[in-house]
Amino acid sequence: MENHKRITHQMGVRALGAFSGGLDSMIAAKVLIDQGIEVEVVSFSSPFFTSDAGRTGAMQLGIPWREIDYSQTIISLLRNPPSGFGNNCNPCIDCHAGMFRKLGEIASVEEFDLIFSGEVVGQRPMSQNRGSLNRVARLSGFQEMLLRPLSAKLLPPTDLEKRGLVDRSRLLRLSGRSRKAQILIAEENGFQYKAPGGGCLLTDPNYCSRLKMLMDIPGLLNETTARLIRYGRIFRLSEDTIGLIGRSEEDNARLEELALTGEKITYALPDRPGPTGVLIGNRDNLEKLVSLVTQYAKK
Ligand code: SF4
Repeated sequence: MENHKRITHQMGVRALGAFSGGLDSMIAAKVLIDQGIEVEVVSFSSPFFTSDAGRTGAMQLGIPWREIDYSQTIISLLRNPPSGFGNNCNPCIDCHAGMFRKLGEIASVEEFDLIFSGEVVGQRPMSQNRGSLNRVARLSGFQEMLLRPLSAKLLPPTDLEKRGLVDRSRLLRLSGRSRKAQILIAEENGFQYKAPGGGCLLTDPNYCSRLKMLMDIPGLLNETTARLIRYGRIFRLSEDTIGLIGRSEEDNARLEELALTGEKITYALPDRPGPTGVLIGNRDNLEKLVSLVTQYAKK
């Protein structure tokens, strides 16, 4: 008689999912809910992506949701991603592995039986081909607990399926980049979902080139500076300093607010309207910042 829990249906089985609130993660959760599995989900937040869609998606499904601040992990991965970057500044393989590691740690403490995600084989050429999915699972350290319900029938049966915790016959065999099948399922279930893609700034080429400028200067990348560089024009003021100049009132307001929390120097002309400038780096470059603010105020 094996020691593993073996049951004939999925009642009493608990699953914890990585949940962006996008189409794939909504359907992955629904597939498990439909088996009678008790599903809870986690959305990750950082300067590069938010958990907002996750919260609203979980509300739609009526399942418990929690947020994990992933900022420190993703920032340290940006400094040194063991598996490298995707097309832009996105260390997707290590990022996914890190998320599953967090889920696995929670699952072990809180006695979840499995962790899952909405990954689909072949959906992203670099990070969701079969090799990458295997690598992510291995790197996470929780390979034996990890299920990909959307592509499960195209992947070797997991221990979870063999043990009868999950009914493999009711998992899906989705693959590739087309989301037609997912859209159909979403429509059948009346899901409101956010448009696929575009949720992570690290995949945005414009943001990535700003981030590279920031990362090029040792010690400048942190949570605040990663948020600050979303706004305004960016200038390399010297070897060790970056300047930001607001392009609009909204930019100015965001720059001021973020600079205040990150204790960065800001400058705005005292006597007439103009942009807000923020200095990231060496204070000796303040004059250069003042000169840029004056120049753009004239414009
Ligand atoms: S797109 Fe962004 S959030 Fe998603 S795995 Fe890649 S780095 Fe992480």
